[in-house]
Amino acid sequence: MNLGISALRYVEEVKNGSFTIEEFISKTVEQIKKHDGKLHAYLSFDDHVIEQARNLDRKIANKEKIGSCFGMPISIKDNICVKGGKTTCASKMLENFVAPYDATVVLKLKSEDVIIIGKTNLDEFAMGISTEFSAYGTSHNPWNTDYVPGGSSGGSAVSVSAFECIASLGSDTGGSVRNPASFCSVVGFKPTYGLISRYGLISYANSIEQIGPLTRTVEDTAFFLNIISGFDPNDDTTIDNKNEDYLSNIDAGVEGKKIGIIKEMVGQGTDKEVVSATNNAIKKFEELGAKIEEISLDMIDYSVASYYTITSTEAGSNLARYDNLRYGYDFPLEGYEFNSYISKARKNFGPEVTRRMILGGFVPSAGYAGKYFLKALKVKKKLTDEINEAFKKIDFLIAPTVPVLPFKIGEKIDDPVALFLLDFNTVIANLTGKPAISVPFEISNGLPIGIQLIANSMQDKPLLQAAYALQNTVKLPEVPI
Ligand code: GLN
Repeated sequence: MNLGISALRYVEEVKNGSFTIEEFISKTVEQIKKHDGKLHAYLSFDDHVIEQARNLDRKIANKEKIGSCFGMPISIKDNICVKGGKTTCASKMLENFVAPYDATVVLKLKSEDVIIIGKTNLDEFAMGISTEFSAYGTSHNPWNTDYVPGGSSGGSAVSVSAFECIASLGSDTGGSVRNPASFCSVVGFKPTYGLISRYGLISYANSIEQIGPLTRTVEDTAFFLNIISGFDPNDDTTIDNKNEDYLSNIDAGVEGKKIGIIKEMVGQGTDKEVVSATNNAIKKFEELGAKIEEISLDMIDYSVASYYTITSTEAGSNLARYDNLRYGYDFPLEGYEFNSYISKARKNFGPEVTRRMILGGFVPSAGYAGKYFLKALKVKKKLTDEINEAFKKIDFLIAPTVPVLPFKIGEKIDDPVALFLLDFNTVIANLTGKPAISVPFEISNGLPIGIQLIANSMQDKPLLQAAYALQNTVKLPEVPI
């Protein structure tokens, strides 16, 4: 039995009776036992997965109807609530927090009979790009365990890439689904803002973040998007997508489409292997009948600064609720008066989150808001205008997902600004609300490189068609585990 199959293939195989759900789930659990000690994709597990598998097998045997996911094993980033299980956000502050309800995406997946194997590691509260800021230890890249898997949804990407589940859900505030997808050679998708409900996602910067799937193939992303997208009365920012079918016509191709290469994203600061992979992807698109043109965005140089100003401000506000009174970790109240207790308890945040909260307290404060926060909002608006203008002439934008190859664990941890700058290629989709996807494209000296495509708002379906076309131009080696 091949644990590395796609979700669509899995469904076929279960339907054909090639294996039972219990067999597949047991094998997946074995795989986790064998590799996760080293890879550390997971923070917690559901102990009842075999039971759930047996129940579903029984239903199939009795010819009862079961959901379209047929018990496939999936993982969920540990900042998305799954009822009754721990949701720690990889923070000591939420060490003992048990989610009292399911996120909308989780409910939707459960209603299609997925089996949630466990919750995956992340940078604390999704702030980071390497998973090294998890309070529970870093995850390792299965392509080379000395290297970071990317982040912040690093555990999700590792679990999919190392066959420890079939697909995962992550969250993408500034690239956190696409970045680890690129580093671990899986597909990572951030939808148009509002296409997927954020209800039950623990907020970092709610005005720009989205939940997104990490999968082995683009078709699988379309399959999951069909399940988890659409209006949710519990999230007022969601869009009614009229039950769009993202999987139909996925093979429509890119003949005659116009693709813009963002000049600034293949210039200074981009590894030469990454530039070369992007040029190869462009050639593939040309062979498929697309027209390529170079574009430049005036506001791009300010995008990372604008992103960190806006997200830190929202994070400062969102994280103010962690006072360790309503939920938190074990830290007795005795001996403290009210304020000193809270300030002492909040010392349990890690260094990166603390940095963001300090920044987020300063940039919108009286006397500085005009200089920083309001300016950042102006950049966001201008960038959106510019990109909307570009989409009048072109269908997609193309760029490397990350400017650099995966780096070694520990290599950049002491240089926060260097880490911030690695978000250069991904944050524009978040700031402008556009859908974007990372497609695995090359392996350079054993390290994966992903190519990013961005489309206009609500063009998620054509975006997946273009990504599918690109995916099918390459055959990548198997992960060496
Ligand atoms: N690296 C970015 C940050 O730390 C992106 C994080 C994310 O998308 N959650 O904010």
